Amino acid sequence: MVIRDLLKDLWLLFGRMFPLPTTPGLREVGKPDRSSPVIVTCNFDLTVRKVIRTLKRDGVDAWLLVAPTRGINVWCAAGGGHFTTDRVVSVLKTSGISHRVDHRRLLLPQLAAAGVNIWSLQERTGWKPRFGPLRIDDLAGYLGRNRRLTEPAERRVTFGLKERLVMATNLASASLLFFIVPILVSSIWLGGFWWRSLLLLFSLAILNAVLVFRLPGRPGLQKGLSLGVAAGALFVALSQLLWDMSTASTVAWASWILFLSAYLGYDLPSWSPLWRADIRELLLGRRDTHIEIDKDSCTGCRLCDLVCPVHVFDRNPGGKSYFVANLDACQACGACVENCPANAITTNFSSGMCSCPTCTVINGVGALKPKQSPGDPSPDDLTPRWEGTCCGSGTAASPESTEAEPPPQGALGKARARCGGGS
Ligand code: SF4
Ligand code: SF4
Repeated sequence: MVIRDLLKDLWLLFGRMFPLPTTPGLREVGKPDRSSPVIVTCNFDLTVRKVIRTLKRDGVDAWLLVAPTRGINVWCAAGGGHFTTDRVVSVLKTSGISHRVDHRRLLLPQLAAAGVNIWSLQERTGWKPRFGPLRIDDLAGYLGRNRRLTEPAERRVTFGLKERLVMATNLASASLLFFIVPILVSSIWLGGFWWRSLLLLFSLAILNAVLVFRLPGRPGLQKGLSLGVAAGALFVALSQLLWDMSTASTVAWASWILFLSAYLGYDLPSWSPLWRADIRELLLGRRDTHIEIDKDSCTGCRLCDLVCPVHVFDRNPGGKSYFVANLDACQACGACVENCPANAITTNFSSGMCSCPTCTVINGVGALKPKQSPGDPSPDDLTPRWEGTCCGSGTAASPESTEAEPPPQGALGKARARCGGGS
């Protein structure tokens, strides 16, 4: 057990870009009773372990519903079309949770908003879903406030130094898979090329992640190039002053450094849905993300502001409608579009269409599988089936959240028509 957990923690450091599924279904955390909160998360093993660990640490007794998201974390699964309304409906109906509690309140991770439409979910299940705080660490405080509105800091996504360092090791490992063949082939002629490249790859990934807010240029390719130019220049200076290196070797190594840094800098934003926006920026030379609110349709329900992880929206002064106050911060996640009950938000991108390599491969393999036949049950047809309420294996997720109450029934049809059922 200890070795297995150790291997999973190593996976967190070097392989978290790959899915690591755990069994979907119901988990008991602590000693939940019939009034305990019901919290939904993804079935990425590392997330589930973290959620359970944090809830236990904070003394929260809860029912944890692990949705089948193909072993992918909350934000990526929601952005990639794997954490959807359908998947939540499915786990609600198959877990037997409705027999375990007397209430119908459901708490979802805020970052699931890009894939889960809470209006559709309520209409289909009768449960009252809300999005909770963005980080699991804030959940106990949120519940302690009797599920009052999440604080602004609880719903803003940030990447601290520790998180960026973990991103860096994972990014370097993923990139190594990409470059392993050319590096090994080149090492046949260039002695020591493989270990020098390995060192460069991890050093540049860490530098990119650590210095990302200080490097000139936009996040992505431009910042990677900035670092590459600086690192290449430093290398040239050192090679002339300290090492007896030929001009050809110096130029070749400096070019390799520049290329690796640019690639790593470009790939770093792929750790959020920004990746798609960055492709456009790379191809068009400008940011092409656009989003707007029709103020005549907007009811001022505030849900867009509550699900947005980067505070793009604000309330119009003197009015109840909302407007786009900070377009530049938009990550193109689609959470606001997915959940706007008034169909008031339009964008030039589609939600649930993340194109990072992991989702591309998973969706590609999925496309090869036989399609659902007309006789197969849909999540709405599923009858409850009891699953063992295991817990001992410990693991956890990261609930996150919103506050707006679902709209009146009349609004549901409209919201659903827009999001296609949220799945
Ligand atoms: S979610 Fe839609 S209706 Fe609600 S405030 Fe935002 S734009 Fe307006
Ligand atoms: S404004 Fe952009 S970042 Fe915010 S929820 Fe909408 S799509 Fe996501």
